[in-house]
Amino acid sequence: MAFDPVQAVGVSRRAFFAMPFAFAGLIALVRSRERPLPDPAANGGGPPITVVLFSDSGERLATVTIRKMIKNDAEWRRELSAEQYRITRRKGTEFAFSNRYWNWHATGVYRCVCCGTALFRSQDKFDSGTGWPSFSLPIAAANIQATSDLSLGLERREVLCAKCDGHLGHVFEDGPPPSGLRYCVNSSTLYFRPSPSHITHAGSRLFAHLWRGAAPANPGRRS
Ligand SMILES: [Zn+2]
Repeated sequence: MAFDPVQAVGVSRRAFFAMPFAFAGLIALVRSRERPLPDPAANGGGPPITVVLFSDSGERLATVTIRKMIKNDAEWRRELSAEQYRITRRKGTEFAFSNRYWNWHATGVYRCVCCGTALFRSQDKFDSGTGWPSFSLPIAAANIQATSDLSLGLERREVLCAKCDGHLGHVFEDGPPPSGLRYCVNSSTLYFRPSPSHITHAGSRLFAHLWRGAAPANPGRRS
């Protein structure tokens, strides 16, 4: 068959124009796995509890009495990824050193992936060497609950979200001072929200870098 340059150009143009849409579709597919966080102030259908609301910069907003979030198994399966469901609703454990936040150092608030309740702050996170996100304190004692866990043949303190009873991990008494506690949490139970002030700061630094790059073109601004 003879080479047809017109057809060849046509195909490459179609591919060229389709490329951004294919790329956007891929991005949308990846993003679609992350559902928007529920409003932590919204009432569920369970008994009343008292929790503390926080901004994403860790500022305490209000102490409120709301109703617990109660959902059946089918609802949780529909809303969560398979890994999030396995860990938060079936008390699973993820692999150390290969989870999302074990080596995460950004400034912000870690919220419950199931209900959006603020659970931990970045300033209370420390490197425990275990390969799981570790915190010396919860963001507010009211936002989590601890209960005895006798599985594995030893007594541990299980940590759960106060609003939705989602399993988070365990708390141990070998953490750094002053609390002496180590909240060992599965990354899949958390949804990190960056502090807006941290984003602004990072953005201004980026802008300053760009501005410095442009400065030589305007000698009048040198000093
Ligand atoms: Zn929750």
